Amino acid sequence: MNIEFSEQDEAFRAEVRAFLDEHLTEEMREEARRCTTVFSDKDLALKWQLILAEKGWAVPAWPEEHGGPGWSITQKYIFNEECAKAGAPGLIPLGLRMLAPVLFKYGTQEQKDYYLPRMLSGEHYWCQGYSEPGSGSDLSSLKTTAVKDGDDYIVNGTKIWTTHAHFADHIFCLVRTNPDVKPQAGISFLLIPMDLPGIKVDPIITMAADHEVNQVFFDDVRVPQSNRLGPENEGWTVAKYLLEFERGGGAATAKLKVALDELKTLAAEEHNGQSPLIEEDYFRDAISDIEVSVNGLELIELMNLERLSRGESPGASSSVLKNTGVELDQRISTLQLEAVQYYGVPHANLISLNGYSDPWVGPEYAETVVPHYLNKRAASVYGGSKEVQKNIIAKAVLGL
Ligand SMILES: Cc1cc2nc3c(=O)[nH]c(=O)nc-3n(C[C@H](O)[C@H](O)[C@H](O)COP(=O)(O)OP(=O)(O)OC[C@H]3O[C@@H](n4cnc5c(N)ncnc54)[C@H](O)[C@@H]3O)c2cc1C
Repeated sequence: MNIEFSEQDEAFRAEVRAFLDEHLTEEMREEARRCTTVFSDKDLALKWQLILAEKGWAVPAWPEEHGGPGWSITQKYIFNEECAKAGAPGLIPLGLRMLAPVLFKYGTQEQKDYYLPRMLSGEHYWCQGYSEPGSGSDLSSLKTTAVKDGDDYIVNGTKIWTTHAHFADHIFCLVRTNPDVKPQAGISFLLIPMDLPGIKVDPIITMAADHEVNQVFFDDVRVPQSNRLGPENEGWTVAKYLLEFERGGGAATAKLKVALDELKTLAAEEHNGQSPLIEEDYFRDAISDIEVSVNGLELIELMNLERLSRGESPGASSSVLKNTGVELDQRISTLQLEAVQYYGVPHANLISLNGYSDPWVGPEYAETVVPHYLNKRAASVYGGSKEVQKNIIAKAVLGL
C-alpha cells in the first residue's frame, strides 16, 4: 500500500494552510475551542460556511455543477485534516453532508434547484427527524404516520433527540405511509418546513447542561406530497443511503491528535504535588498507549482513503474507525478530567460556561473539560451505537 502524498497533494496542502492562516481568525479558533457541544455553535458554523463558500470550498463532496470544488478524495482528506489541525469550526453536517447527497441521488430537478442553493447560502437550516421514542437502533419500527389527503399528507407523531431542531427551519423526516406491509417497506422520506401549523419543538437539556437536542411533535401537519424525496414507501432505501454519509466522518485521527496535544499540555501544567502529571508513570503510560492506538487508527483511515480512491467502498472498516475513534476520544477526555482534579466538579464548569454565575476561577484550560467529557459520551450512541457497529463488524468482518 502506498500512503505517501504526491507533490501535487503537498502543494494543495500548502494552499489550504495559507487559506486557513489568512481567513481563520484567532477569535474564530478560540470560539470553536470553547464550544463543547457535539455540533459547532450555529452562528459560528454559518459564518465559517460563508467564508468557505466564497472560496468555493464549503462543500467538498458536492458535484461541481452544484458548487463543489471538484477535488480528489485525497484532496478532501487533506482539507479536512488541515481544518481539524487548525482548530476550524466544523460545519453543521445535517444539510450539507447528509441531506445534500440524498438530494443529488433521489431529488427531482425542482427539489435540487430549490433546496441546494439555499442550503449552501445558509438560508435553510436543516435537522434530522429519524429517531423516535422506542425507535432508535430499531429505526424501521418508527410510528410517525403520513396519511394521504388530496395533494397532501397529514403527519402525526413525534421525533426525538433532534439535534438543532430549535434552530432549524426545515426537517427531513421518516414517516410511515403504509402500516400494512413489513416495517421497512412502508416508510417514506419527507422534507418538511418547520413553520407549518401543528409542529412543536420541546427542548431536551443534556447532562452537560446544553440545549442541543429536542423532541419534535407533529399534530395534523399538512405537508404537500411534492415534498416527498424519492418514491412513496421507498423511504427506507433513501434513509439508509443518507446514513452512509452520517457515518463517514473523515479526518478522525487529526482531531484525536489535537485532543491528545491538549491532554499533554494539561498534564504538563497540572501537578501531583511534586511533579507534573505527565511525569507520572500512570499518566505517561496511558498517554503513550493512546498515542500508539491513534497512529494505528491513522493507518486504517489512510487505507480507507486508498480504497475510496480506487472506487471501492470502505465497508465495515468505517465501523471499526467509528468505534475505535470514539473510544480513544472518550479515553482522552477521561484523562483530561482526571488531570484537572477538583476543577472537574461538573457544576462549577457548566454554570460558568453558560454564564449563570461569576466568572470561572480555575485555570482557563480546565473550564471546558467537564462539558467536553460529558458530551463525548454521546458519540458512542448517535450515528449508529457502539453495539450496532459491533454487530456490523461481527457480520461483515468475522462472518458471524
Ligand atoms: C447527542 C445525540 C444527538 C442525536 N441527534 C439525532 C438527530 O439529530 N436526529 C435523529 O433522528 N436522531 C438523533 N439521535 C438519536 C440516535 O440516533 C439514537 O440515540 C441512536 O440511534 C440509538 O437509539 P436509542 O437512543 O433509541 O437507543 P436504543 O436503540 O434503544 O439502544 C439502547 C441500547 O441498546 C443497544 N442496542 C440496541 N439494539 C441493539 C442490538 N441489535 N444489538 C446489541 N445492542 C443493541 C444500543 O447499543 C444501546 O446501548 C441523537 C442521539 C444523541 C445521543
